[in-house]
Amino acid sequence: MSPATSPPATGDVVVWSIPLGTRFRGITVREGVLVRGAAGWGEFSPFTEYDDAEALAWWRAAREAADDEWPAAVRDRIPVNVTVPAVDGPTAHRLVTGSGGCRTAKVKVAEPGQDVGQEIARLEAVRDALGPEGHIRVDANAAWDVDTAVARLRVLDRAAGGLEYAEQPVPTVADLAAVRRATHVPIAADESIRRATDPLEVARAEAADVVVLKVQPLGGVRACLRLAEQVGLPVVVSSALETSVGLAAGIALAAALPDLTHACGLATAQLLTADVVAHPLLPVDGAIAVRRPLPEPGRLAAAEASPESRAWWLERVNRVRGLDRTTAAR
Ligand SMILES: [Mg+2]
Repeated sequence: MSPATSPPATGDVVVWSIPLGTRFRGITVREGVLVRGAAGWGEFSPFTEYDDAEALAWWRAAREAADDEWPAAVRDRIPVNVTVPAVDGPTAHRLVTGSGGCRTAKVKVAEPGQDVGQEIARLEAVRDALGPEGHIRVDANAAWDVDTAVARLRVLDRAAGGLEYAEQPVPTVADLAAVRRATHVPIAADESIRRATDPLEVARAEAADVVVLKVQPLGGVRACLRLAEQVGLPVVVSSALETSVGLAAGIALAAALPDLTHACGLATAQLLTADVVAHPLLPVDGAIAVRRPLPEPGRLAAAEASPESRAWWLERVNRVRGLDRTTAAR
């Protein structure tokens, strides 16, 4: 067997499947792989529609977590936001009040099939739950064009009683820069960083006030630390809807950044209906303690994917591992 097709040692690779509490970014079940190495466990959970080339950075992040110790931490608590999916007002209110004391909320907007009235109701409910001192940010996942974004942000800023920032309101860097010039709402870049061929373009084009960094899509904690230094803008570390094993890498990045001025998007364990660790990385008083929880055998067994999913993921791991070798060898 060639190295690219040899199966991974099964004890060191676990395929998991966990339902979400609420439909999020079009999915209701999250799946992925945990890999074990000398330093601990890493998570490989690229979204299923991503091709192998895009999944390669996720694999390198998983390998870094499994093989290397984390960089030194400079803080021991990470303030985090509660994430509010495209739910109705009462549900949004309940999510914020039940969030473990989060003082910042990230609210999803621009959901297909929803109108501005539903967004206003959601934002008003979140403001009511947070109180006047809380921070509210919105995330449109690149769904608007420039004119829609500028007009909509004016309305949503009012409904929210002031927005901390708008995350990726439009798809391109040029559009982000245009929106930023036309609104007083600060702009955060997410997709324009993690799915871009040149993540520094955002800074050069003065297209954002904040950058969102995600460990898996950007190839690991160390890669993100280098990028943060090069970009020179405030960083919000966010998750990719991971188990607490994947979240621990985000926590490690947030703990190692020289400056951390905004709440991070790492309180997403609560969007999954189960986890692979006994004590998930959840916020207390609005912050997650810096630690690295280990998977617990009983929970790994409970989250075990179906044979079909398992075969699909192991196949994917083998392909991406092969790609990693050929790319690294070049
Ligand atoms: Mg986002």
